[in-house]
Amino acid sequence: MTQRRYLLSESEIPSHWYNVVADLPSPPLPPLHPGTHEPIGPEMLEPLFPMALIMQEVSADRFIAIPDPIREVLAMWRPTPLHRALGLEAALGTDCKIFYKYEGGSPAGSHKPNTAVAQAWYNAQEGVKRIATETGAGQWGSALSFAGSLYGIDVKVYMVRVSYDGKPARRSMMEAWGGSVVASPSIDTNAGRAILEKDPHSTGSLGIAISEAVEDAATRDDTKYALGSVLNHVLLHQTVIGQEAKKQLDMAGAYPDVVVGCVGGGSNFAGIAFPFIADVAAGKKLRIVAAEPASCPTLTRGHYGYDFGDTAGMTPLLPMHTLGHTFMPAPIHAGGLRYHGMSPLVSQLVHAGIVEPVAYLQNECFAAGVQFARAEGIIPAPEATHAIRAVLAEVEAAREAGEPRTILFNLCGHGHLELGAYAQYLAGDLVDHELEQSALDAAADVIKGMPAIA
Ligand SMILES: *Cc1c(COP(=O)(O)O)cnc(C)c1O
Repeated sequence: MTQRRYLLSESEIPSHWYNVVADLPSPPLPPLHPGTHEPIGPEMLEPLFPMALIMQEVSADRFIAIPDPIREVLAMWRPTPLHRALGLEAALGTDCKIFYKYEGGSPAGSHKPNTAVAQAWYNAQEGVKRIATETGAGQWGSALSFAGSLYGIDVKVYMVRVSYDGKPARRSMMEAWGGSVVASPSIDTNAGRAILEKDPHSTGSLGIAISEAVEDAATRDDTKYALGSVLNHVLLHQTVIGQEAKKQLDMAGAYPDVVVGCVGGGSNFAGIAFPFIADVAAGKKLRIVAAEPASCPTLTRGHYGYDFGDTAGMTPLLPMHTLGHTFMPAPIHAGGLRYHGMSPLVSQLVHAGIVEPVAYLQNECFAAGVQFARAEGIIPAPEATHAIRAVLAEVEAAREAGEPRTILFNLCGHGHLELGAYAQYLAGDLVDHELEQSALDAAADVIKGMPAIA
């Protein structure tokens, strides 16, 4: 009988996070001050983040030790299982070996608690009593509410109004863990009140919610800010995923020809892929594929240059692929992939040709998700179906080339709170949104005058 799951013991939770900065072909570009266009120093981030996380943000050390108290909490759900997708392989009739790492068994049902716990712990160490954050679909807000509950930290979540009204279950999840949730725009901040004055019925956006959370943290001494993706320290915390996967593939006597993840801000992708980039840097031949939505094609069609991380233009300028900070993505169901920008580290790896980006429409992704659910049992998060769609493309390409591949992908979360999206797909009501060139051109206009990347 072929083994289906590869399990590690608690003592095998990685002892260090892996920092890909040490293995990049060139040093990462710095974030810039939006006024002066000069590189910003760590001290400029101090009102928003605890110093330990700022030091991780700018670190070039290859390995950073994971404090034992964090490993002890991660042990609630880690190490996560590596599955051999025997059911999917049989359904596809392929000789390819397909493996997936399953992150849906965490308390919040995705990879996000891997960094939420670490961020909350470092905040608690520095005496922080309150954290403000934003959430779109609610995945990050729930992960941070869970993590805050462990350390007695109050978590204030600015939840985009349209999700607040449309996803009451996510709101209840955050409140069950003690988070306080308001619909954004809210009357709690200047930024929110200004929007509501102009448009009392505003449905909100991630950009507005970020502005509210940043204002909240910047104007209160007892409060810091936390982000669930994009930044270097967030991606760093996710690298436990790929390090575990490597050990588990060893147990299976396998090594991937291709590693696949979906990308919104880049954190779950980095989690599975970055530890393999160490191997690429050491001369190993393997391909690394990042799958994004065709309606928000940041890596495949975006511009590589400096842009704001938020819509309102409050953050430093980040060197990244971007659709322009005012870009409003179509309302696809993979809410976690609707971001105008991208992690600077992932962007740099795409620019260097080390990571291959691909883009898919949501109907073909849900079709892949349903096929996966029927073969493997797990109903994937809408975001994760993009990775599965990319895996199907790899299987097809292997068939055409007449050479089977070993494929590893990250199943970053389950879809139990997104069954409304599956209902729409199964009823044939889901609309595909291929982005018009005119929308891309408008985006390019928004970032005219920003510093270019040489
Ligand atoms: C938030 C989220 C994403 C997108 O964020 P990344 O930082 O790109 O990983 C993808 N999948 C799930 C399940 C999420 O919760």
